[in-house]
Amino acid sequence: MSPRSDPPNPLLTPWTGNFELPPLAAIKPDHFRPAFDHALAEHRSEIDAISTNSAAPNFENTIAALEKSGRELERVSSVFFVLAGAHTSDDIEAIERDISPLLARHSNALYLNRALYARIATLYLERATLGLDAEQARVLERYHTRFVRAGAALEKPAQERLAGINERLASLGTQFAQNVLADEKSFVMVLEETDLAGLPDFARAAARAAAEERGHAGKYAITLARSSVESLLQFSSRRDLREKAFQAWIRRGENGGATDNRKLIAEMVMLRAERAKLLGFATFADYRLDDQMAKTPAAARKLLDEVWGRARTKAGVERDALQTMVAEEGGNFALAPHDWRYYTEKLRKAKFDLDEAEIKPYFQLEKMVEAAFETAHRLFGLSFKKVDVPLYHPDARAWEVTDAQGRHVALFIGDYFARSSKHSGAWMTTLRDQAKLSGDVRPIVLNVCNFSKPAQGEPALLSFDDARTLFHEFGHALHGMLSNVTYPLLAGTAVPSDFVELPSQLYEHWLEVPEILREYARHCRTGKPMPKALLDRLLATRTFNQGFATVEYTACALVDLDLHSLPDAAHLDAADFERKDLERIAMPAEIVMRHRLPHFQHLFSGGGYAAGYYSYMWSEVLDADAFAAFEETGNAFDPATAKRLHEYVYGAGNLRDPAEAYKSFRGRLPTVDALLKKRGLADVVAS
Ligand SMILES: [Zn+2]
Repeated sequence: MSPRSDPPNPLLTPWTGNFELPPLAAIKPDHFRPAFDHALAEHRSEIDAISTNSAAPNFENTIAALEKSGRELERVSSVFFVLAGAHTSDDIEAIERDISPLLARHSNALYLNRALYARIATLYLERATLGLDAEQARVLERYHTRFVRAGAALEKPAQERLAGINERLASLGTQFAQNVLADEKSFVMVLEETDLAGLPDFARAAARAAAEERGHAGKYAITLARSSVESLLQFSSRRDLREKAFQAWIRRGENGGATDNRKLIAEMVMLRAERAKLLGFATFADYRLDDQMAKTPAAARKLLDEVWGRARTKAGVERDALQTMVAEEGGNFALAPHDWRYYTEKLRKAKFDLDEAEIKPYFQLEKMVEAAFETAHRLFGLSFKKVDVPLYHPDARAWEVTDAQGRHVALFIGDYFARSSKHSGAWMTTLRDQAKLSGDVRPIVLNVCNFSKPAQGEPALLSFDDARTLFHEFGHALHGMLSNVTYPLLAGTAVPSDFVELPSQLYEHWLEVPEILREYARHCRTGKPMPKALLDRLLATRTFNQGFATVEYTACALVDLDLHSLPDAAHLDAADFERKDLERIAMPAEIVMRHRLPHFQHLFSGGGYAAGYYSYMWSEVLDADAFAAFEETGNAFDPATAKRLHEYVYGAGNLRDPAEAYKSFRGRLPTVDALLKKRGLADVVAS
């Protein structure tokens, strides 16, 4: 018998299967650490070769060479982080804790490499005489900005301190996310049949499935997944249960013990402030916004302030109506945050004769996926065909995407159901980004959501909000799939975060286009389209409860900006800061921030939105104004407008400065009017 050798590591062997998809079913946690070590070493030697090249720097031997380097690390990382988000385990979490400081150290070594920076700086100075085309000039400019913003031009001691800060921040960010997930996993409210008063069938079915998944077969479970806890808050007539679940939900990351995030926040905010100072900025918010479309915290704040006062007024009117309803029912209590959704649902039913339980059978997951595809077909000529390829979980599904000429565009993966191995929220991510530098590389794009999984044999039903989330994430997915650039640095969603929500939020508008709803909102039992009267009533509720939604969001954006505008954050008490800041902006007592600081993952797990949560509203100014461009033509699918949208937004990655890209699409910069109208705030006086 011949000696058996270890099978090769599937992360390090070429991916030759369909669509060159990584062999997801064959990859085991044990494969990651050796693959990371190998890929990191390879990238290091590529960087060394570029930075120590004895030839004078030119675009090809420096910028293009950087763009071609690190491809293996890119491959290993993208597989790893897809799993760490969507299907994690104790093993994956342990590797993530080990690897995040190593990746931070690696990125430091790249961006603080003085010899490499000297080459980039030389090219940047000479940029006008290098004969570059527009895209090459943009890549060079982006590299220069990135290196400067990372501290490449600083003296050695400052660089060393920065490197230490970055590594520490990476570890803290990983820990933060894992703590939130741990708090979510440890809470489950197991209910008996008799506890379900008020819950409609779909919520009962979801609770039954959740109980089954958590080992309580035959009972009902409420978890802290948004769709689970929100349906309890919306429908349960048991005030005690609503309070219990709501308290657990808003206390994630703030429960004392090993998973408490408050100290982590204090340290992260302090380190970010210190990093900003080292780089010559007064505060982290100044540093962060300098490279965004908004440019300054003052510009972001101006927009938020414009909305905040009006939103408070509208929320006050909404609260009074809910309180009246409590009194009419004979309730002798002041409306509390855990009552808001319940009475809002009742009011909606009373006012519009509309309840979620009546709407939900019309929003089947399968049909909404088709609706998102059909919209992409009408706007951009895309077609979607289901394909059978091995993925990382049986709930994930894949489609091949082709264009009007039948050419391959992308592989799209949808992973829609909540499970305990998945982080909360909804997101788009990629297993491969588009680029044309080394062959025509087409992207593999994922949407990961947390919709309630139905019991066996039942159809998966969405709330209208869930359907909107599906369209939102699919808009991000299109931004990745339609990308048409040469250089990887500029591909798809690699744009400033106050611009990146434009393609996603804009896409939500097409869910509400009557011709899409008429065709795809079909009853799960009868297959009949939603009756026109119901559709009209549904669309009439668009601005209903928008005071609440705007307050819940805008408070988060304001607290985020204030927190990251602290010039010195030593001795920060995160909970105390949050309380005082909410007092300062006169937060209505009946509404809680959409994400409280101890579980505010946008800010603290990775930090992608730190001092950047305003981005959603900034982008909403853009999306409301952009959709108006279609409305002005009288056709929600106007071909000429769609063509410009494809060219300057969805297909353009980071080819242009965002303001310039928007102007190329719209012919002018946006105004805030369409946003105020969309939220029903146009005629509201600020309080
Ligand atoms: Zn988004």
